[in-house]
Amino acid sequence: TEQAFERERTLPSRTLDGSVVRLNANLEFEIEIPGVARAGASGIGLFRTEFLYLGRTDLPSEDEHYEVYRNLVIQMEGRPVTIRTVDLGADKMPMDRLRRSEPNPALGLRALRLCRRNPEVFRTQLRAILRASVHGPVRVLFPLVSGMIELRAARAALEAAREELRAEGIPTAQPEVGAMIEVPSAALLADRIAAEVDFLSIGTNDLIQYSLAIDRQNREVAYLYQPLHLSILRMMQLVVDAGHARGIPVSVCGEMAGEAQYTLMLLGLGVDELSMAASAIPLVRRVIRASTISDGRELLQAAMALDTADDIERYVRTTMEERY
Ligand code: PEP
Ligand code: MG
Repeated sequence: TEQAFERERTLPSRTLDGSVVRLNANLEFEIEIPGVARAGASGIGLFRTEFLYLGRTDLPSEDEHYEVYRNLVIQMEGRPVTIRTVDLGADKMPMDRLRRSEPNPALGLRALRLCRRNPEVFRTQLRAILRASVHGPVRVLFPLVSGMIELRAARAALEAAREELRAEGIPTAQPEVGAMIEVPSAALLADRIAAEVDFLSIGTNDLIQYSLAIDRQNREVAYLYQPLHLSILRMMQLVVDAGHARGIPVSVCGEMAGEAQYTLMLLGLGVDELSMAASAIPLVRRVIRASTISDGRELLQAAMALDTADDIERYVRTTMEERY
């Protein structure tokens, strides 16, 4: 019933043994904001900003960016908003102005790389994010970080934008900065990256694509696109442990985060936050509230003793069916 739903969305996403896992919403379009509030999300864990650039021939202005971010931050009423800097290219069709034909777009000029090539595009967005950050807690998330040079270049661009605004007398806050871990090199360097950011967010969609060498959009090989491949679990474990060794939170924001069959396993990995489509939050919250971290660890350990993704998948599915 409506009332039960109303009650449920205010329940804490806390396990039976007392760990709170923040449940954030992924956002792709502004019109999804009411759904975020309905689901009782703790915040926005991933605001995909590509929509600002799509379906037009000119570039969005700083004020256009700012209006969108400010509105979102205000509507979230103090809950953190994680704005990912633009990840155009590859599967996110870039506008013609920025687009080049590339033989391997997924390995080409996308995300931070595209921003480094077009510093004005990046600067415009960073300035708008910084301006919006005075209206509530904003976190900046850099996509497709593959190593320290890219991360430092992105941070330097953010710092330069802040300096500029300061010189112009425009107020800004100091947003937290995070790196998406979605390239295997970044997962393997998570300890170094964690030393230079405030949070990590694992993008499993791309991490799976790049680790398994499976184009996330290619149907011919879709059967090999396996979230529970042991290599993926190992990398995720490495990332969570690296973040925690540095005392920073680790989130998962790929599709995996919203699939309730994986929730217990993700608890076992020790993730602090999950970010997903708002509509997935109620079910994931229910699983969290019916689970313990130690059960999650047990499941993860047993799963990781198996060899194949098929076996792991079957084991996890069976366990979840028995338990919930
Ligand atoms: C991911 O890669 O897991 C992710 C969340 O980013 P996107 O799906 O936008 O590439
Ligand atoms: Mg990605």
